[in-house]
Order: sequence, then structure tokens, then C-alpha cells
Amino acid sequence: MSHFELDLQDTATAFADKSDSELSEKYRIFKMLNSPVLNAIGTGCAKFALALGLPVEGLIKATIFEQFCGGETIEECDKAIKRLGNSHVGTILDYSVEGKHTEEDFEHTKDEIIRTIQRAKDDANIPFAVFKVTGVAPLGTLERLSKKKKLDAKDQAKCERIHNRVAEICEAAYEAQQPIFFDGEDSWIQDAIDRLAMEMMERFNRERPIIFNTIQLYRKDRLQYLKDARRQAANDGFVLAVKLVRGAYMEKEREHAAENGYESPIHETKADTDADYDAAIDYCIKHFKDIAFVAGTHNEQSTKHLAELMYAAGIAPNHPNIYYSQLYGMGDNISYVLAKGGYNVSKYLPYGPVADAVPYLIRRADENSSAAGQVSRELEMIERELKRRKIS
Ligand SMILES: Cc1cc2nc3c(=O)[nH]c(=O)nc-3n(C[C@H](O)[C@H](O)[C@H](O)COP(=O)(O)OP(=O)(O)OC[C@H]3O[C@@H](n4cnc5c(N)ncnc54)[C@H](O)[C@@H]3O)c2cc1C
Repeated sequence: MSHFELDLQDTATAFADKSDSELSEKYRIFKMLNSPVLNAIGTGCAKFALALGLPVEGLIKATIFEQFCGGETIEECDKAIKRLGNSHVGTILDYSVEGKHTEEDFEHTKDEIIRTIQRAKDDANIPFAVFKVTGVAPLGTLERLSKKKKLDAKDQAKCERIHNRVAEICEAAYEAQQPIFFDGEDSWIQDAIDRLAMEMMERFNRERPIIFNTIQLYRKDRLQYLKDARRQAANDGFVLAVKLVRGAYMEKEREHAAENGYESPIHETKADTDADYDAAIDYCIKHFKDIAFVAGTHNEQSTKHLAELMYAAGIAPNHPNIYYSQLYGMGDNISYVLAKGGYNVSKYLPYGPVADAVPYLIRRADENSSAAGQVSRELEMIERELKRRKIS
């Protein structure tokens, strides 16, 4: 298949591994997510019912959780990992527990991330591991570190513990030779995350890319950051490895900037974000021999843009420095069509206790209920495939 014939509307390939009844169920869930009212009621009720301790976990697990998550434990994800693997789509186990605050929680999350690294080791179906620094560190300390505020003795001790946990995770990844992503987070804590990620890259990316940082191109300053990071990597003799995303926290970023009286770091328009995202891809392709990168996107135009650049530069679709990535349950037209075309592609597979995954699920529901959201696109694909199979 020529790269230019990437047919992202090929629903037969996108849903080849879904049975008719699975596809009908997916349709039902996405239809609900696509309705702002039902969606609001559903997510509101879920939060309320969980807060009251009502037994809704089973219901959530059998419906929306099932669409977007692999299970509650690593073992429960085995089925999804194998299934994706059968279509040459890799898995990235994403322990999706958010909003934890105690040192005990952070230690527990760190141990769980290390278990995902062990699980990924030697399994060709799991090309990357991933973690969020906020899963192993208190927000306040990360914020003070990012603002380069003077730290008191208590904060210094916390910093040391953050550093030790992050280093332990990265050492485990290096020992297992298992590449791992630092996820990108809020801009007001990102500076601390960037510094940790660059330090770990310097230590562990000497021979090959193991540590990947995330660059959020909805930020006005990130294209330049990417260029500066490459220069630093070249000077200090390590491989730069990055995951390119547009960025997930636009509303929150704008609100935070307005509340705190500084200029929003986020591009004013979607077109500006798109332009920087594609420019970052151009830059990485230009330097593909010394930058390893992952395009984390559901955007069809950017997906094609990268494939076209690879083709024009004579780069093989499965070049080890270039990966595509989507989220489980979304963008299957992109993942499965790319995989069929021989590209490196993998999906985040969130897992964890149902109640802990609710913030993640609500984010998916929110982004899916917006008018231009992903869900209308997903829903349209599912509808077309149902029609093609003569089910509706
Ligand atoms: C594998 C993977 C990993 C990810 N990891 C992270 C991560 O670590 N950190 C993170 O923050 N996000 C992450 N994301 C989410 C990502 O940042 C996007 O929110 C999401 O993928 C939607 O963007 P898109 O490129 O798929 O396409 P699109 O749907 O084309 O773009 C939507 C995005 O464009 C931007 N945008 C929309 N409207 C405007 C506007 N008016 N002005 C400016 N910009 C606008 C926003 O970033 C929005 O999310 C990840 C996504 C994937 C698929």
C-alpha cells in the first residue's frame, strides 16, 4: 500500500476485530456520549453515586469502562493486549489512578508503574510504558519547583522523595530496556516535569531512546522548546525522545491564567495549535536520525501529514524512531489502518479500579460531547460500519 493511499475511512479494517454485537454496544455507548444532556446526567450521576457509595461500579464497568479501559488490574488487560496485538497494534499500559495525595499512595503508584514495566518487558505487544509525575508527587511541591521558589526543609525532603521515585521508575525502564513516556501535564507544574525528564534522558538515553518526554503543541512556546531540547541533547550526547500531542487541558489552562492574571500560554485558535503540531512533526522528520518520536493524535490530517513526509523522505513505515499512538476505544480507524499499512502504532490502555478511573472516563466523555468532538467522528464511523454490515 502506498502511503498516500492511507484510507482512514476504511471502517471494515477499523472494526475488523469487533463482532456485530460488540459494534452495536459501542454504538449505544457512543450515542449516549454524543448527547450532551445524557452525557451530563450520566457523568453527574456516576460521580454522585460513587460518592454515596452506591453499587454503580458494576454498571460503569460493563458499559463505558469496558469501552475505554482494559480492566482493573494488569492481568485483566491480557485479553485486550492480545486482541490489539493480533491486529499489530501495540499496547501501552496506563495505570489511570488520579487525585492521590499521600506519600503512601505515591509509593503504591510507583510500584504499580514498575509492575507495568516488568509486564511490558519481553512482550513485543507492549512497546512503551507510561506514567504521570503527579501520580508519584504532590502538586504543590511540583508547582513550587516549577516557579523556582525557595523550598523549606519539608519541601526539600519531598523533592528528594519525588526525585528518588522518578529515578527508580526510569532505572527500572532502563534495566528492562523498556521505553517509557513522561505524560505532559498542567503548564504550571510542567517545568519541574521537563527538568526531571531531561535529566533522566541524559542518564538513560545514551545508547537508545528509553525516556520520552511529552510536548504539548497547544502551548505557544513548545515548538521552540523542542528545538532547544534537540540542541541540548546534541551537546550533551544523548538521544532526544518525545511524544508530540496537542494538549488535553486547554480550558483549565485558560481559566488558571485568567484567575492568576497572566497571559494564557495556550494558542488563541485551533488553527495555530494545528500549525505548531504539524511544524513539530516536520522538525522531527527533518531530524529523524537523532530524535525518536511518537505522534499521539486522533487528528486524521496530522496522521496523513506524517505518513506523507515519511514517504517523501524514503523512510520505511516501521522505522524504529517513529511511532503513532491513540487511546484505546478511540481513533480505531487511524490505529488499525496504520497497522495494516505496516506503521508502528500503539494504544494507551488505561486500567485501574473503576472508581479511580472515573476522572479519566469523564474527560473522555467531555471531549466527546463537544460539537466538534471526537465522538461525532467516532459515531459516524460506527454508523457507517453498521450499515456496511447491514446491521442498521
Ligand atoms: C496517545 C496519546 C497520548 C496523549 N498524551 C497526552 C499527554 O501526555 N498530555 C496531554 O496534555 N494530552 C495528551 N493526550 C491528549 C491530546 O493532547 C489531545 O487532547 C487529544 O489527542 C486531542 O487532540 P488530537 O491531536 O487528537 O486532535 P484534534 O481533535 O484535532 O485536536 C483537539 C485539540 O486541539 C487543541 N485545540 C482545540 N481547540 C482549540 C482552540 N480553540 N485553541 C487552541 N487549541 C485548540 C486542544 O489541544 C484539543 O485537545 C494524548 C493523546 C493521545 C492520543
